Amino acid sequence: MLIVMDKQARQEQVDEVVAVVESLGYQAKVIPGADRVAIGVVGNQGYIDDTAVSRLTGVSHVIHVTKPYKLVSRGFHPEDTVVSVGELRIGGDQPPVIIAGPCSVESEEQIFATAQAVKKAGAVMLRGGAFKPRTGPHNFQGLGETGLRLLSEAGREAGLPVVTEVMRIGQLELVSRYADVLQIGARNMQNFDLLKEVGLLDKPVLLKRGMCASIDEFLAAAEYILVAGNQQVILCERGIRTFETATRNTMDLAVVPLIKEQSHLPIIVDPSHATGKSSLVPPMAAAGIVVGAHGVMVEVHPRPETALSDGLQSLDFAAFAAMMRSLEGYLPASG
Ligand code: PEP
Ligand code: MN
Repeated sequence: MLIVMDKQARQEQVDEVVAVVESLGYQAKVIPGADRVAIGVVGNQGYIDDTAVSRLTGVSHVIHVTKPYKLVSRGFHPEDTVVSVGELRIGGDQPPVIIAGPCSVESEEQIFATAQAVKKAGAVMLRGGAFKPRTGPHNFQGLGETGLRLLSEAGREAGLPVVTEVMRIGQLELVSRYADVLQIGARNMQNFDLLKEVGLLDKPVLLKRGMCASIDEFLAAAEYILVAGNQQVILCERGIRTFETATRNTMDLAVVPLIKEQSHLPIIVDPSHATGKSSLVPPMAAAGIVVGAHGVMVEVHPRPETALSDGLQSLDFAAFAAMMRSLEGYLPASG
């Protein structure tokens, strides 16, 4: 429930609403706005009878939030959230960021060369998996801690923060030591215990949309992280499963402007996993920026044909540099 105060409501009236909400056993979050204050009620399970609050002086009206999320919604938090990763800002009116790197960290030579190449072409963050959620158990599973170490060293040398996936709670402490941003993969979007744990950390989270998740389920997953206290969440559209088999997934572009209407959190797109085909990555990256994404994450490999995972959708260095040039027209001049 959201309690919207009159424009001229006084502080004592806000305090009284908060006191009444708390006396009912709920938490009240005061949300200052440009021209009026709102008070969000959290901690309720289902509908709350609003008679006790709606007749208090200074209250304009009460909005019942029927969605399974509240903290992530725009109604609750009208201003855009801008996530900081070191000096980098993601979200709001900031220019779109480009995150690039291999699907998996494979070797020192591979990750250092990729870090330098993507930095030179204009990427502002390095990606690379060390713990990989592979479809089959015989597939390359990632280098584990060695991969984390190589990723963070390559990022440091290139001057790029790094994002890498954490698959389970038991890995969190280790992965947090090396990662600037923790990635929760599509297959773990509804690993609620993991979401609760990353919510307790003071580290940005890149939450990928599950391949079969609706937008409500996606936002409800993000809500788990915010409820636990961590507000630094970046959403990522990475394609959903449809009847189409010509592409690996179907890139749901409408989700970008829709999420920007419904939520204050930044949203980026991953055209590599969304299409599964390297030739489709540059045009779909541009499409993501055109519809308003706060960033694009793509897979880049020195020799995609030899990649241990996701080679077909990975760009080589020349293709990545060409993509960056092709995006110039869509990025602000300063980008
Ligand atoms: C990845 O980023 O390499 C990855 C496994 O992505 P997703 O979870 O979207 O499949
Ligand atoms: Mn991948």
